[in-house]
Amino acid sequence: MSEISTGRHRSPAPADAGLAPATDGSGAQWTERYTHAVMDTFGAPQRVLVRGEGPYVWDADGNRYLDLLGGIAVNALGHAHPTLTAAISAQLGTLGHVSNFFASPTQIAFAERLLALAGAPDGSRVFLTNSGTEANEAAFKLTRRTGRTRVLALEGAFHGRSMGALALTHKAAYREPFEPLPGGVEFLPFGDTEALEAAFADGEPVAALVVEPIQGEAGVLPLPPGYLVRARELTREHGALLILDEVQTGMGRTGTWFAHQLPHIGGGIVPDAVTVAKGLGGGFPVGALIAYGEPVATLLARGQHGTTFGGNPVASAAGLATIGVIERDGLLEHVTALGRRLRDRINGLDHPLVATARGEGLLIGIELTAPVAPQIAARALEAGFVVNPCRPTTIRLAPPFVLTDDQAGTFVDFLAGLSADLGEGA
Ligand SMILES: *Cc1c(COP(=O)(O)O)cnc(C)c1O
Repeated sequence: MSEISTGRHRSPAPADAGLAPATDGSGAQWTERYTHAVMDTFGAPQRVLVRGEGPYVWDADGNRYLDLLGGIAVNALGHAHPTLTAAISAQLGTLGHVSNFFASPTQIAFAERLLALAGAPDGSRVFLTNSGTEANEAAFKLTRRTGRTRVLALEGAFHGRSMGALALTHKAAYREPFEPLPGGVEFLPFGDTEALEAAFADGEPVAALVVEPIQGEAGVLPLPPGYLVRARELTREHGALLILDEVQTGMGRTGTWFAHQLPHIGGGIVPDAVTVAKGLGGGFPVGALIAYGEPVATLLARGQHGTTFGGNPVASAAGLATIGVIERDGLLEHVTALGRRLRDRINGLDHPLVATARGEGLLIGIELTAPVAPQIAARALEAGFVVNPCRPTTIRLAPPFVLTDDQAGTFVDFLAGLSADLGEGA
């Protein structure tokens, strides 16, 4: 690996330069073309990006941005990381895809690695997917195999947009246009232990409780201490599965491999299943359902689930390389320390619009004193920072793990210098 671990990485020129994708054109020209070619589900793009390196991206007009969103908690190693690029290229040049009628050493090693990081007991198994939604879809199918159909999820939950994952997602605007969704899902108030106890005490037997240890899309909201411990007791007592959606919080984002491994969040519990994706492949699409122990790992029997791309060697190589760099470079410790300093510095600001910064590691929610998150995000973009207004009063940061203290500091300076009179409708 030593020959590719230093310096800037440049992709080799394609063998036939005529096949290289065109990147010339202004941001305005590309945006105009976008509106005619790409379905309008996301609204107009904020910028058209042409390249990235480390924690920075550049737009079609040559402007540079510090990427504090990391493709929504995806680009754990930043952009164009040389080790990740080399691992993906090498695998693609050796064996790029096989059907799941066959296996590859890369896929097997990747699954083993995930089980080890999860601390999963003997008999545990992994189902590899291409996204978080697919991992949750597999988890949802798994709950149906318990012979029960009642599934508990939390208000504010986001689990994805396929019909099954959407059934577990709380937001009415996402759900209602697509009803009827698969049935049996019930939403409980977020972080409310009494409501959880009441749900188990009454009604049909519960198949599973599905929760995010820290709700990401809802505004970086950690479950209160003790909630997951009580959830584990109740699910065990009632023979229900405890399924953790760590698609956003997993793979080092919170300074531990999984958020539930943080003692004050998970309290040492062992879940029945965990889903991961986002940061897992460092930017390459990869997801996984990790099932803990033989009985859960065998709920989906032969022929009951499948995927064409899931577990493909290139995605598996991306996952292995991402995990490898996080370990080699001590990035979990860095994520913990940098996240704490960044939150402390934001909390130390005396700014009328900034209330508090919360979260774990490099998943941070900045709570504002007024619903001006979209305006602040727009100002930030103008000033060269990519951030996300995940709700009107909250800015979310989920930057690459390779971000430095000094780079993070430039954003704190931006916040400190932000004019207080944005106006709610500005
Ligand atoms: C992003 C996200 C998903 C969906 O993942 P995709 O890769 O977009 O399909 C599911 N759950 C959580 C908690 C997420 O943050």
